[in-house]
Amino acid sequence: MIRVENLHRHFGGFRAVDGATLEIAPGSITGLVGPNGAGKSTLFNVIAGALPPTSGRVIMDGEDITGLPPHELFKKGLLRTFQIAHEFSSMTCRENLMMVPSGQAGEKLWNTWFNRKQIRDEEAALLTKADEVLDFLTISHLKDEKAGNLSGGQKKLLELGRTMMVEAKIVFLDEVGAGVNRTLLNTIGDAIQRLNKERGYTFCMIEHDMEFIGRLCDPVIVMAEGKVLAEGTIEDIKSNEQVIEAYLGT
Ligand code: ADP
Ligand code: MG
Repeated sequence: MIRVENLHRHFGGFRAVDGATLEIAPGSITGLVGPNGAGKSTLFNVIAGALPPTSGRVIMDGEDITGLPPHELFKKGLLRTFQIAHEFSSMTCRENLMMVPSGQAGEKLWNTWFNRKQIRDEEAALLTKADEVLDFLTISHLKDEKAGNLSGGQKKLLELGRTMMVEAKIVFLDEVGAGVNRTLLNTIGDAIQRLNKERGYTFCMIEHDMEFIGRLCDPVIVMAEGKVLAEGTIEDIKSNEQVIEAYLGT
């Protein structure tokens, strides 16, 4: 579904991503691990259109999507969540979800004058959708809670929920489990697996918790110093000498 070809992203003379080549198979939950500073988040930023690459290509379903802006990628069903959740803190959870879809009639000024009924219908549909998403994520009880009052883990769930408001194909998750308690981590893990199985989402997830990765991901890709060091099942990775060395080296 995604092919990254010899991707580079340098900052001045520093090679944060230094010739990374990898593939994400459709229908997979692909893990991306590696020591701090390996270039994982930078790689995500380039794939998701937040940073232009220094060189290299990103291909989605055979189409070159290198350097496309996030809203273009969004239309193609490529979405990402952030390592730090990006919620609108003074809005409720439900309102946060309703903010997501683009191309609503309400966005166009003339429509607000000439087509009020269409806007009402779209809002009603959005509200229903938001409530379905909250239900799916088992946080219906938080629908009227201001997002700023949520715990770190609940904010991560809400981020995942934002990807469900549209027809996503592939979702990039940056440390969605970091700093999240066990119970909530299981809820997030279950939601990811259900989205994968029931709705056909492909995932690529950066994560540090090897148990969480091992439970969800196949294959697992290991990055170190801007390059792909190894790829395989969690067992392959854990017993790979080069991988062990890369982790011990930091
Ligand atoms: P990871 O997510 O694997 O921990 P990052 O992709 O965040 O790694 O960072 C890789 C390296 O690139 C780090 O050494 C980091 O300091 C550097 N880096 C990331 N973003 C920038 C930037 N905007 N400017 C300069 N250096 C950066
Ligand atoms: Mg990171």
